[in-house]
Amino acid sequence: MTVNVDELELDKFSQLAHKWWDTSSEFKPLHEINPLRLEFIDSRAGLAGKHVLDIGCGGGILSEGMARKGATVTGIDLAKKSLKVAQLHSLESGVAVDYRCISAEDMAAEAPGQFDVVTCMEMLEHVPDPASVIESCSRLVKPGGWVFFSTLNRNARSYLMAIIGAEYVLNMLPRGTHEYARFIKPSELSRMLRQVDLNLEALSGMSYNPLTNVYSLTDDTAVNYLMATRRNA
Ligand code: SAH
Repeated sequence: MTVNVDELELDKFSQLAHKWWDTSSEFKPLHEINPLRLEFIDSRAGLAGKHVLDIGCGGGILSEGMARKGATVTGIDLAKKSLKVAQLHSLESGVAVDYRCISAEDMAAEAPGQFDVVTCMEMLEHVPDPASVIESCSRLVKPGGWVFFSTLNRNARSYLMAIIGAEYVLNMLPRGTHEYARFIKPSELSRMLRQVDLNLEALSGMSYNPLTNVYSLTDDTAVNYLMATRRNA
C-alpha cells in the first residue's frame, strides 16, 4: 500500500519542530487560534471524558488543549521530530497525551470505530490524497461520533491572505509552507464527507485581522474554515 504522505511536507514541519511551543515562532498562529477551535469542538462534542484522536497532531498544541478539557487523547503524526517534541512537552506540562507515529489509514485499520471524537486540523492541505484521510476519519469514529476538520479555502483571497500575506508580507510563516493547489473549497470537502457517511453539522470561518492581531470565528469562510461533522448513528 502506498502511504498517503508527501515527505517534503513532513520535512517542512520537522525543520521547525523545536519551535512548536514557542508562541512567538512560526507556530504563533496555531497557538492563537487554539482557544477558538477548542471552543468550537468542546461546545458541540463535550470533550470531558471522551476518547479523542487528533490526526496530524504536530507538537500537540490542540491535543494538549483537548486533554486539559478532560479528554483522553491520542495524537498521531508521521513527523517523528514533532512527536518527540510533543512527548517532551507533555511530560513537562503534566498533561498526558498518547503520541504515536502512524498514518490515519493504518490507525483506521487498527482501531476502527474506537473514538468518540476525531480531529484533523490544518492537515488536509498537506497530504496528497485528502479524501483518503477523510475516509479514515469516518472509519475511526464511533457511529454518532464527531469529526472536526479545519483547512484553507481555495480562491483569490485565500491565495492573497494565506500565501502572499502570511508568507511574503507579514513573514508569519516560512515561504513554501502552503501550496495553493492543495487548498480545499468547503464544497469539495462537503462532497468528500458525503461519500463516507459524515454529515456536515456546522461550518465556520476563522479570520485574522493583521491590524489588531485578533483571530475570531466568523461567517466568512473565504480563507480559513472549520467544519463540524457527525457520523451516521
Ligand atoms: N494539527 C496541528 C498541526 C498542524 S500542522 C495543529 O493544528 O496544531 C500540520 C501537521 O500535519 C504537521 O504536524 C505535519 O507533520 C502533519 N502531516 C503532514 N502530512 C501528514 C500525513 N500524511 N500524515 C500525518 N500527518 C501529516
